[in-house]
Amino acid sequence: MKITLSLPILVIFAKPDYTKDGREMRVNMHNKDITESKIDRLISECRDDIKDITDGIFEISCLRQTNVLKAMRKEKIAENHFMPTTGYGYGDLGRDKLDKLFAGVFNHEAALVRAHWVSGTHVLYNCLDTLLRPGDIMLSATGIPYDTLKTAIGLNDDKHSSTLTGKGIIFKCVKQKCDGLLDIKSILDMIDADKNVRLIYIQKSRGYELRPSLSYIEINKCAEIIKSKYPEIIIMADNCYGEFVEEGEPDKVDLIAGSLIKNPGGGLVPTGGYAAGSKKIIDMIAEGMTTPGIGGEVGSYALGYRLFYQGIFMAPHVVGQALMTAKLFAAVFSKLNFKVYPSIAEKPYDIVQSIIFDNADQLIKFCQSIQSASPIDSHVSLEPWDMPGYQDKVIMAAGTFIQGGSVELTADAPIREPYAAYLQGGLSLEHGIAALKKTLIDMAGERLINIT
Ligand SMILES: *Cc1c(COP(=O)(O)O)cnc(C)c1O
Repeated sequence: MKITLSLPILVIFAKPDYTKDGREMRVNMHNKDITESKIDRLISECRDDIKDITDGIFEISCLRQTNVLKAMRKEKIAENHFMPTTGYGYGDLGRDKLDKLFAGVFNHEAALVRAHWVSGTHVLYNCLDTLLRPGDIMLSATGIPYDTLKTAIGLNDDKHSSTLTGKGIIFKCVKQKCDGLLDIKSILDMIDADKNVRLIYIQKSRGYELRPSLSYIEINKCAEIIKSKYPEIIIMADNCYGEFVEEGEPDKVDLIAGSLIKNPGGGLVPTGGYAAGSKKIIDMIAEGMTTPGIGGEVGSYALGYRLFYQGIFMAPHVVGQALMTAKLFAAVFSKLNFKVYPSIAEKPYDIVQSIIFDNADQLIKFCQSIQSASPIDSHVSLEPWDMPGYQDKVIMAAGTFIQGGSVELTADAPIREPYAAYLQGGLSLEHGIAALKKTLIDMAGERLINIT
């Protein structure tokens, strides 16, 4: 309100020039200021509208923070765990403790947390490659997996001999039911029909599709039903983007894995991946990660793991900030009559928020604005490009401290119908609000949205 009142004065004295241009400029400036105050009001109203939702997110962050602290206390984390190692890294206390800490936080028997895994895709592929043998069936319970995994499994190019299918592993999948839940009956039928089903793969996050994400409760329920009938089948969850979003994690499955430059890194971890699960499976993964006979007792990290510890300590808060940012974007763009998934009222199961625009111009401008409101590379002008593996052009806003770190505020979109932008992350709600405001100003300035 204050802003609107002081504006006319600013406008009058801004340019004491009575030419036609001067008048037009004054009118434009005046309109711009009116738009800006409308935007401020819109954001403020939407923050009020979602107060209960934001409070709910905060409660979960508090609960998860308490649990992380408990796990840190149990492991007696201390300064000496931050010491770097070199070479083989025998007796690396920091590495071994970090494994135990992650196991505790994710409520699994054992874990591996490694900078040697270059990304989420790498750890997920490494797990699958270690656990599956030629002739085994990998059965995905959530349709076709995330884009990069699709290639690694061999669903894009069978000729690539190092893909899973190239090595003789068979991929099958079941889609989620219309209500978004897992189709447990079809999964059981497929296991019944073929004794070669060795591993059930469940992707928690929607990834870059419009299917619903899964709750940890749904994943656990499915795991318990399958395990009770077929205890020898391995159940694995891709937990990327799902960590710390809910009260708990998929801890009834045999194995979860994910990226450290997403949720569990808290925006601080520079690189790596993690896997957590039963001791037996984690021992196998350790051998698959390094060498049979050597396993997880080697691997040095000359920078030390201080940021990894600090990252998981910060993760409950940072994920909460990302979720609040996502809900605020959802609330504002819903009010502007755009469809959003998940809807404002839906409980989130991952940090991805999609907003469906009407056309490519809106979609592109949205991503460009997110980029220009980023702390890094804000000056870079973003254009859609032909990314390998995609049929359509893709635009990606990622002005992040950690390259590709998508627990930081990022947005990406394939330029095709339904013109969905996938927004995720945000280290602070303050940044989220600043970016939202800039996005609305930019879009309104180009008449791509109408703020009333
Ligand atoms: C990000 C992501 C991956 C792959 O992780 P990268 O670190 O980008 O390789 C796999 N699955 C899901 C659901 C993801 O969100």
